[in-house]
Order: sequence, then C-alpha cells, then structure tokens
Amino acid sequence: MLCLGIDLSSSSKRASTLAFINGGGRLDQMDAFKEYQELLSVLDSYRPDVVAIGAPLGLPLGLDCLEEDCPCTPVNNHKGRKGEVELARMGIGCFYTGKRSIIKNQIYRGVKFRKDLTQRGYEVIEVYPYATKIKVFGDGIPPKSRPESLVHLREHLPKLVPGTECYADELNHDKCDAVLTAYTGYLHLRGETDTLGIPEEWMISIPRLQR
Ligand SMILES: [Zn+2]
Repeated sequence: MLCLGIDLSSSSKRASTLAFINGGGRLDQMDAFKEYQELLSVLDSYRPDVVAIGAPLGLPLGLDCLEEDCPCTPVNNHKGRKGEVELARMGIGCFYTGKRSIIKNQIYRGVKFRKDLTQRGYEVIEVYPYATKIKVFGDGIPPKSRPESLVHLREHLPKLVPGTECYADELNHDKCDAVLTAYTGYLHLRGETDTLGIPEEWMISIPRLQR
C-alpha cells in the first residue's frame, strides 16, 4: 500500500511537494515537481493506491469557472462549497471556493489534476491539511504564522508519521502539509476518514471524528 500526498503550488513555476507514506504508516520519501508531466512520471513509477491533494478539487454547484465576468452563479445558498461550510461549523476556518477566492490558480490547477488523474484510473481525494492538523493535534496548536508552529510540527509529526524525523531539519510548511496530506490518504485507505460536502462539488476527507 502506498499513499501519495501533494502540497500543490499555484503554478508550474513554483515547486509542489510530494510525500509518500507506505502501508506501515511510515514516510518513505519526499520529492517535488514543477510541471504536471514530472508528476505523471513519478506516478508511473510508484503507482500509489491513493493520491491525496491538499487543494480544492471542485467548484461550488452552479459554477463552471471562477471568472467574475462569466455569468455562471452558485446555486447553493451559502458561501463556497458545502464541505467548507461544514468545516467552518466544526470551528475549522478555511478559504471559501468562489469567484473572490485568493487561491484561484491553485483551485484551477487542483480541479484539472483531479479530472485528469481520475481519468487515468487513480483514486484522488481532497485534503485540507490544516483540518487534519486540528483533528489529530487538537486546536491548541500554534498558528502557521508563528515560528513555534514549525517547532511544534517538527516535534510531533514524527510521532504521527515515523520517518518524518529524517527530514526534521528541512521540514518547512510545504513539506509538513505534504506529510499531513499523505497521512490523510493513509487513513482513507484504512477506512478512518470522514468526508464532508457533496460529490458534485468534490468531497473533503478529514480524519474520522470521535464518536
Ligand atoms: Zn463561468
């Protein structure tokens, strides 16, 4: 069993980070790519059982694009996607996917990758690494903007995903997010995730809620 987690950048000009977690829940290796073709050749060599992407992979119902001068309009009566509303209700703040989004390029890229990889037969799931972080570490974690955030992750991530300690010195936020995203893919394959939202907008996978 092999899970790939992708911390997706907004364009091929900036590297996206890859993390591989094996069936034992251990971080096998980390990698990076810029062009989509590079990702495809990595996928060809490793054939992961799940590809977890840490970016929105769908648009709100009614939208066919995110352009403000296009007449397409959301048909739901809330901001963003249903899954994002559900996250907010759980106290997990997130970006709402919509025409005013500040991560438009990343969303377009995520949707494109998801459609193409699904067609190629890969199981693709959407992950919000911040939600995973809160579900597994609690909401007392230092915010990403603070230097303590990385100190905290360098200390705690290896307990969650053994093997991460080998990368401790180079762990930046992108790498931590890739590991958290791959870890969510690992939980997904074990049947230990819940999904938020509706399929038409693409669902968000989070570690299973305590019941
Ligand atoms: Zn449109």
